[in-house]
Amino acid sequence: MATTEDRLRRYRDKRDFSRTPEPGGEGAVPAPELPEGAGAGGAARFVVQRHRARRLHYDLRLEVDGVLVSFAVPKGPTLDPDVRRLAVRTEDHPMEYADFEGVIPAGEYGGGDVIVWDRGTWTPHDTHDPAAAIAAGELHADLRGDKLRGRFVLIRRGDRDAPGSQWLLLHKHDDDAVAGWDPEDHPRSVRSGRTNDEVADDPEWTWDSDAPADRAERRLHHRSAEDPELAALDELGRGGTWRFAGRDLRLTNLDKVLLPEDPARPDDAPVVTKRDLVRHHARVAPLLVRYLAGRAVNLRRYPDGLSKAGFWHKAAPAHAPDWLTRWRYPDAGRGETQEYLVADSEAAMPWLANFGAVELHPWTSCTAAHDRPTYALFDIDPGEDTTWEEVLVLARLHRTAFEHLGVAAFPKVTGSRGIQVWVPVEPRYTFDQTRDWVEGVSRAVGATVPELVSWEWGRSDRGGRARLDYTQNAVNRTLVAPYSVRARPGGPVSAPITWDELDDPGLRPDRWTVATIAERLDRVGDLFARVLEHRQRLPSLG
Ligand code: MN
Repeated sequence: MATTEDRLRRYRDKRDFSRTPEPGGEGAVPAPELPEGAGAGGAARFVVQRHRARRLHYDLRLEVDGVLVSFAVPKGPTLDPDVRRLAVRTEDHPMEYADFEGVIPAGEYGGGDVIVWDRGTWTPHDTHDPAAAIAAGELHADLRGDKLRGRFVLIRRGDRDAPGSQWLLLHKHDDDAVAGWDPEDHPRSVRSGRTNDEVADDPEWTWDSDAPADRAERRLHHRSAEDPELAALDELGRGGTWRFAGRDLRLTNLDKVLLPEDPARPDDAPVVTKRDLVRHHARVAPLLVRYLAGRAVNLRRYPDGLSKAGFWHKAAPAHAPDWLTRWRYPDAGRGETQEYLVADSEAAMPWLANFGAVELHPWTSCTAAHDRPTYALFDIDPGEDTTWEEVLVLARLHRTAFEHLGVAAFPKVTGSRGIQVWVPVEPRYTFDQTRDWVEGVSRAVGATVPELVSWEWGRSDRGGRARLDYTQNAVNRTLVAPYSVRARPGGPVSAPITWDELDDPGLRPDRWTVATIAERLDRVGDLFARVLEHRQRLPSLG
């Protein structure tokens, strides 16, 4: 009989693992989330997912020998005993997929939106070996779900048992049969109560087919304060083992103060302990992972808090757990850091916090093509005499330039004193090209307000004026990640903003902190989400 590994091979082969060296289907499998009243006696699970891919269909999946044996039913299963439905055998899916509801990116295998249309338990009828029954071409299954109940029969047309084989699905004339029953009359998810349209409009989860199955389901939003894993963090003493995102993390000195309060606004910017930093990294981990995955990350560490000098840390530490991804920088010179961390999982984020990494600075290029940036950076770095109003003037002038050029650009406050703008690009440019382009735009902007801008390198030569720093557009030069904390009193956070917010009189570069960022995310979501999708070519500056 085929092993679980064999059965999943075809599923994995459908997926493109070329972008990550990590093989699929590895690692510990967390206990699946069971529907009410199911699974207690070890009963096998079933799920039906309503899936709008190229065409609408219902995926009927039955747990058999540790995998989900799957059939695509274009018109959906019905309780009507007089109706026969076509069912096409599809790839076995991993058990982790049973609870998946969300969106699969366009262009990937199964791209579209998925709801958990029904789920429950099932038992084979007249056999103890459902795999053999399926191989023989006829399975009788008693389903106990919210919508589907009673005895269903799957009968293969033809001899071959393979993906693509055609089957008939029908419901027996039994007490659960309902004449005229149409699945399209019951469109809501049994997991969330939502329809496919509602999930597509505001998905909570995505399925990352590049990742191993146990970590393929990814959140699209920050975690809520009620998240049970976050509650468990608060119950830990000064340290201990904390289970988060499928990993056991050893946390230490959780009550140590890393950042003092901001005395000007202690309510919004209170003392930040290591527990607070771990909690922040955990809450925004689903967002951080977008901006850090696939890139080396440079860390600004303050293991003893702001009272001692912080330092840059680039090398992957030898004591880091095996599950943290490393990347060897092929162009590293002698004496340079050879091996970097790549924070590509939710669990990596609180691990970094426990390591004392207050600031996270990802590379602007991906490890897969480290000499090709995926965004161009604008850093509006105020001088000593630059007022916040003047930073806003410079930012608005940049906005006008991007509008004029027809370029999508995404601003964020740094959490410190300035504003940065990320301009996503196709990964086809060299750093010299993005740096020249950024310099060209910024010099054009600066020429309109020469009294505000200096092009001198040394801080003392700038006469207190702002600097438009294009030099960060270089390999291994970085700017702070969105949602990273800054090493300043009260834990201000680098927060994406809309261009319109430049005109909000309440805007400050350090407006949002570890204590207040989640409330903002509840309202506005991740304003940087399109940075990763919106690849564009840079227009000539003429
Ligand atoms: Mn499907």
